[in-house]
Amino acid sequence: MFNSDLFCNYKKCHKLLTTFAWVTSCSHVFCEEHGNKAFEQDKKCPACGLDLCKDYDVVKTNLNPSEEFKSMVLAGLKPEIVLDMTTRSLSFWGYQMAQDKDYHMMMEKHWKERSVELESSYQILMVKMKNDREVDSKKFESLQTEFEILTKRNKELEEKLCEKQRLIQTIKSKYEALRRSSTVDESLNCLTRVADPESFLQFRTRNKPSCDETSKHKVLAVLKD
Ligand SMILES: [Zn+2]
Ligand SMILES: [Zn+2]
Repeated sequence: MFNSDLFCNYKKCHKLLTTFAWVTSCSHVFCEEHGNKAFEQDKKCPACGLDLCKDYDVVKTNLNPSEEFKSMVLAGLKPEIVLDMTTRSLSFWGYQMAQDKDYHMMMEKHWKERSVELESSYQILMVKMKNDREVDSKKFESLQTEFEILTKRNKELEEKLCEKQRLIQTIKSKYEALRRSSTVDESLNCLTRVADPESFLQFRTRNKPSCDETSKHKVLAVLKD
């Protein structure tokens, strides 16, 4: 069974023709849109560039002729004329079928080449993605190692901070104890001064360094502990 469809010969159109077609004496056929555009301006075939100036070089054909038309169009003509017309029509048809076959072969070749190009692009893309993934993986491992080092360092710093805070707390406690002790000494001095000022003066003269210096020594002793 042969293909009985006609397609527009205009470049990049290839529309299926179902109702009307512009048919040329150079055996080309066009859809209404491209036929109207081409043959209204100049009488050149859009497919092969042939001049189509003579009568019947271009004909607009109804692809679904009525029964009346089919009965009458060849009626009255001699059989040899009918056969000649039929032969020319079949020759036109054969040329169109050959063109359609060439078109499909060309398209098959085009899509095969395109497929090879796409396959090549796909392979290149896959290699690039694989390389990118490896680079990202190495980056991730490096960042992870850096993060682990920083986490460890942070933990060490936290431990040192806690130790310092404990030390500050201890110093504060010792300072408070010392301060309370110094306050008691001062109170005793005051009481002695009021009760026996003469003895107090003698005591101060004999017992240098002063009470303040004694306190400093006490503080230094506590801090050393
Ligand atoms: Zn067309
Ligand atoms: Zn042509």
